[in-house]
Amino acid sequence: MSVEVVAGVEVDTRHWIGGRRVASASGDTFTDISPIDETPIAQVSAGSAVEAAAAVDAAAAAFPGWAATPADERAAVLHRIADGVEARLEDLSQVETRDNGSLIRSHRRGVMPRVAMNFRFFADHLRTLASGAAHPDFETRGHRNHVSWDPAGVTAIITPWNAPLMLATWRIGPALAAGNTVVAKPPEWAPLTASLLADITAEAGLPAGVFNVVQGLGVDAGAPLVADPRVRRICFTGSVPTARTIAAAAAPNVTPVSFELGGKSPLVILEDADLDLAVTLAVEQFDNSGQVCLAAVRLLVHESLHEEFVQRFTARTALVRQGDPREVETDIGPLISRRHFERVSGFVERAIAGGARALVGGGPNTDLGGLYFRPTVLVDAAAGSEILCEEVFGPVLTLQTFRTEAEAVAMANGTDYGLAATLVTGDPERAERVSAQLSAGTVWVNCFFVRDLGAPFGGNGRSGIGREGGTWSFDFYCDVKNTCYAPVGWTAGAPSWTTEGLT
Ligand code: NAD
Repeated sequence: MSVEVVAGVEVDTRHWIGGRRVASASGDTFTDISPIDETPIAQVSAGSAVEAAAAVDAAAAAFPGWAATPADERAAVLHRIADGVEARLEDLSQVETRDNGSLIRSHRRGVMPRVAMNFRFFADHLRTLASGAAHPDFETRGHRNHVSWDPAGVTAIITPWNAPLMLATWRIGPALAAGNTVVAKPPEWAPLTASLLADITAEAGLPAGVFNVVQGLGVDAGAPLVADPRVRRICFTGSVPTARTIAAAAAPNVTPVSFELGGKSPLVILEDADLDLAVTLAVEQFDNSGQVCLAAVRLLVHESLHEEFVQRFTARTALVRQGDPREVETDIGPLISRRHFERVSGFVERAIAGGARALVGGGPNTDLGGLYFRPTVLVDAAAGSEILCEEVFGPVLTLQTFRTEAEAVAMANGTDYGLAATLVTGDPERAERVSAQLSAGTVWVNCFFVRDLGAPFGGNGRSGIGREGGTWSFDFYCDVKNTCYAPVGWTAGAPSWTTEGLT
């Protein structure tokens, strides 16, 4: 089958290469299963080295033309893609919910509008860069320095299933804006909206070969893609073990990588915190069934607030409605797959066997069955135990207390990851002092998940390599160049070793 009907929407599940739908040469497909009820919803072409190479061929052929397209024209195409996303917002929301079990409510009001923004923002940022406004020319000893962002070439974009279209387009947007051509490898657990995006890009007039989609399993379709020497940028969002494999594949070609990986982020609640706010922020960590890289899964609460916090937090958690993500009243849905469900269950079982106690939840939601795991909060986990150190990627939080600010900072930073940290305090001076000591790519003070596309985003330690967002995205997707112009009529070169007149 090449066209499947999912949630009432037609989806062509073949690859999109060089502006054409292509089945795998082998004829192989894989089964896409919905986490809502574990039913198969589509057969999707399973790519291999053959399709990865064909997509890179197409992207390489399209690169010179797209790179030479004036910035304004590229920006206009990206805006038309955003229009197309907005026009198909409901289709995209329905298909994504069926495919990965995230809430329809979130897709309609946040995620899919953000997908459109991913194109609009970087289209506009391209215009700013091209105008020179972001980085004006500057003089050195009468010479003019001009910085330009030259497109780097074919870009491989590999993304996970937890927010498939949003995470993919926040890289596809700037990569295309920069003048690069793209081969996207969507996640095998939620591959469908990428296919719809291919249709949207074609309708928007993006030239054939500029955007390509190779479907398939990571080891079969992703691995040959990242190893291709013609790929000049690899942008990967996913787990640490996969990042290690991709880094090894990129090394022989010296292909630059941008990695956005996992997290084990803290939510630090100081004794002067607004407790209502703290509870609200803590409950938010169950969003998307906790399958959020940024989730602040380690609740660190000042001991003086502990009792009251636990009381209010458990009461609020009891109100979280778990169920079918297609219902607008639902607050959290299922986990993505049986394998992931077992992984999450295993973490909780081992933690409890090791002495931790479930304050709330602690296991599957037996009322719902399937892949639904109860919002869970664990206390009394042993210091250094697995549950406090490893990313679970489910609706599982841990709760610990601290006595002093220094202890809170040490606990917050006591992780191999460093994607985000959230701090709740009523004291602005303290907010600055403590946030300055937190090791994370993003620190939120008295808020969570406020993400400006112009702000740098990325992680420290095992959370990744590099930053994207605003000009940082263009720095990654481009070969940044400085051109130094001598003044008109200049004849005498200065001796190269002098620093006279230099800054
Ligand atoms: P994963 O690493 O298993 O897979 C991610 C993608 O990599 C998939 O498309 C997969 O097919 C592909 N892949 C797998 N093996 C490959 C290989 N050898 N070569 C090339 N591609 C390969 O991760 P996942 O389970 O899909 O996603 C969950 C992880 O993603 C979590 O660790 C989560 O924290 C992380 N994540 C990070 C961010 C962020 O922005 N930092 C955002 C969302 C998710």
